[in-house]
Parts: sequence; C-alpha cells; structure tokens
Amino acid sequence: MKALDELTFDNRFARLGDAFSTHVLPEPLDEPRLVVASDAAMALLDLDPTVADTPVFAELFGGHKLWAEAEPRAMVYSGHQFGGYSPQLGDGRGLLLGEVYNQAGEHWDLHLKGAGMTPYSRMGDGRAVLRSSIREFLASEALHALGIPSSRALCVIGSSTPVWREKQERGAMVLRLAPSHIRFGHFEYFYYTKKPEQQAELAEHVLSLHYPECKEQPEPYLAMFREIVERNAELIAKWQAYGFCHGVMNTDNMSILGITFDFGPFAFLDDFDAHFICNHSDHEGRYSFSNQVPIGQWNLSALAQALTPFISVEALKEALGLYLPFYQAHYLDLMRRRLGLTTAEDDDQKLVERLLKLMQNSGVDYTLFFRRLGDESAALAVTRLRDNFVDMAGFDAWAEQYKERVARDGNCSEEQRRERMHAVNPLYILRNYLAQNAITAAESGDYSEVRRLHEVLSKPFEEQAGMEQYAQRPPDWGKHLEISCSS
Ligand code: AMP
Ligand code: MG
Repeated sequence: MKALDELTFDNRFARLGDAFSTHVLPEPLDEPRLVVASDAAMALLDLDPTVADTPVFAELFGGHKLWAEAEPRAMVYSGHQFGGYSPQLGDGRGLLLGEVYNQAGEHWDLHLKGAGMTPYSRMGDGRAVLRSSIREFLASEALHALGIPSSRALCVIGSSTPVWREKQERGAMVLRLAPSHIRFGHFEYFYYTKKPEQQAELAEHVLSLHYPECKEQPEPYLAMFREIVERNAELIAKWQAYGFCHGVMNTDNMSILGITFDFGPFAFLDDFDAHFICNHSDHEGRYSFSNQVPIGQWNLSALAQALTPFISVEALKEALGLYLPFYQAHYLDLMRRRLGLTTAEDDDQKLVERLLKLMQNSGVDYTLFFRRLGDESAALAVTRLRDNFVDMAGFDAWAEQYKERVARDGNCSEEQRRERMHAVNPLYILRNYLAQNAITAAESGDYSEVRRLHEVLSKPFEEQAGMEQYAQRPPDWGKHLEISCSS
C-alpha cells in the first residue's frame, strides 16, 4: 500500500508533445472536501484507502496541489456529434494529470474533470457541477461492478465554488481513471486537419501501448482496428443486455479501448423500453436505447475513415462487417445466461425477442424480472411473474416455451439455478431516482447517501441485508426523470 506521495508517474502521452496536448494548470476549487471515494479504484493505484480522509487528498483532487512528477495537459481531439463533424473539441474542462503505474505494471491515466478552463473550453466555464460528478462516479463504478468495461472513478471532491447552469450550483471535480483517454475523435482530429506525421505517431502510440499483441500480426494496424471493432461490439452487447443507455454516443465520447466513457444524461432502463431516449436534447432519438447498436457501427466507420492512411478501404470494410456478428454473438450469449440457459439453440434469439416485446408492451421492470426469474424453478418463477404482464395469454405462451427450453437445457437443482442466475442478474442497478436522492442529499452537504449507494452498487449481484429500498421499482416521482444535459 502506498501513501499519496509515493505514486510513480510515467507520462507517455505528455511526451508526444504540444501537437497532442497543451500544458494547463488546474484551477483550484474553493474549500475542497471529499464527497466520496472508491476503495476499489484506490487499489488500482496501490493507494491505502485511508488516505482519502486526509486533507491533502481533497487538496490534490480539488486542484490545489500537484505531484512534482505530474504533467497536467489538456488533450486535443475532434469528433462527430449527433452525426455532424465538429472540427475542434478537446479537453475543455478536464486535464490529464499524468500516468501512474502500479505494482502490477499497469498504467492508469489520472484525469481530473472540472479542473478549469483550457484552450479547448470554447464557450464553457471549464467546470463540472456536483450533480454530474456524482453521477459519473456512481455510474463508472457501478458498471465496473456489473462486469461492463468502463473508465473508473477514484473520488469526487465537492466545494463552495459557485457554478452557473440552469441555476447556481456548486463546482466539483471527479478524478477519472482509465488505461487511456484516447478517443475515436483523436484520430479524426489529425486526419481532418491533415497532419499525417502526428496521425502516424498517434497510431503507433496506441498500437504499442494498448494493442501490443497486434504488432505480431502481418498487418498490425488492421489487427488493431479489428480488435477495436470487437471490443466495441462486446461493450454495446453488454449495455443492451443490462439496459444501459449512454445518451451521447458522439465519436469524441468513444474510447479506443472499447470502454464506457464520458457520462452525461445516461440512464439504466427501469421498465424495458427499446425506444427509450435518456438524453432530452436528443429529439430524434439518434441515441435511443435500441439505436445504440447501429450507432456503435456508425462510430466505428467514422474511426475507419480516419484510419484510411494506414489500412486499405477494403480491409476496413471487411473489419467493420465483423461488428454485427460479434455483437449478436455476445448479446445472445449474455441473454442466454440471464435466462439461466447453459446451452445454445437456434431459436434462442426468438425466445429473447418475444420476451422483450412482452416486457415492452407491459412496462415490466427489466432488472427485477430477470432477478426474480432466477429465484426459484422456472415453473414457479413464471407463475409468480405472470401478474406483471397485461397480455397474460401472450406471457403464458412464452412461459410454456421457456419451460420447455429450460427442460432441454438439462437438469439442475433449484439451488444451482438460483446461484447461476443471480450471479448474472443484478438486484441493484443505478436507477436515476436513486442517483437523484443521493445528489439531493449531497447538495445539502450530506454525503452519506452517495456513499451508501456506491457501497450497495459495488456488489450488485449480492443481496445485502437492510438494503431492500435499493432494489425497488422507482416511485412515481422517479419514473422518467428529466436529467439535465448540462453538467
Ligand atoms: P461532453 O458533452 O461532456 O462530452 O463535452 C463535449 C465537449 O465540450 C468536450 O470538448 C468538453 O470538454 C466540452 N465541455 C463540456 N462542458 C464544458 C464546460 N463546462 N466547460 C468547457 N468545456 C466543456
Ligand atoms: Mg465528451
């Protein structure tokens, strides 16, 4: 275990130089204070979790202090936003403080979000508010606990600094961790600004540091792109299987590592709704729940365009063609497991689709349905779940098929079934209303609810004593909450 001043830095991205990022110092927050920290994320840096309670922790992650070895930099990138190209974006309010390597030899980017203005702030104030920082913290740690690849969050630091959004709020910073903060939009920036040398440097950087195994392949860049396609297909399969809606799938928010990245008005589904739009400024539903699948491919083709200097168009197209089959295979595999199936049959896809349609028509809670389905034998579970469906005859027909399918899958005890299904069907997810309750308390200075919710969500598959209130459908006020897109 390390103390805060014992972190070891190796700032590989900063060494790429000024064409890639600009040196900027964090602008400190007034009266910085710890809101919440993640012990699991602290462990990634080998940090002793008790250091979170020391004043120097809030000073470091509230922008007051820096390690001597840190090199804070704002990265430049661009990207396609809602389908249109924005030629210059970049870190407008976040800084890459440096890269820390741990005892296991892993590198972790330390990125401080809400750290003040940079040359890429455009019209923004460089700040992040407490509300959105808490949401990012809770979501990234909750996704990780569900087994969904995501950037991580070390802590949220609150403050008394006023920040204006729709109303006056308080500034906060979230310390984000990821093996890399390079986005699709990084490649697009150097491609569209016609900087082939830097574009090549960036590609070599990503290949060597993040896809070293592809270097052994006959066409390393093509192998890397294929891997990026596969990782994104798998990521989106997990989002769809667990009901996560990202909300702002612009290419500047897509990680080259295939991890969930940049949290805005995201939401987990309460009732199953394929057409759900969590981003209220997304009037056309470009990033609706079910559109995440084709948009994943659209984004990969935007990246492919930026990689044409290194890979033939033919080969890129072929690699893009792998996206849907990869996606479908991963998705179906996850859904079979959620249904408690261990074998594969041709008609499983239809079984899943029929169930989702019934859930959609009756507004059935997506998370609780699967959890309850594993509580007991298939026959007993479907009998109990039947009341959730308006179209009971439709559900009965599905339930018959399901029971037959379960029987063909092979014998197992009720206990085995429960264990297997509960291990993949969470009881606790980050419902918007739960996040909202925690935010409301935190905004009045009480951080206990954020901390408790974070704890509960760190073990989503384990039933926790006294935590029943976190495993409920939302109350009326908490359904379809309009989450502000400002952050
Ligand atoms: P986002 O919607 O958070 O992914 O941000 C899109 C772009 O706007 C990125 O370049 C951000 O850095 C920038 N941005 C968002 N909010 C702010 C802000 N308050 N101040 C400066 N830049 C911002
Ligand atoms: Mg972004």
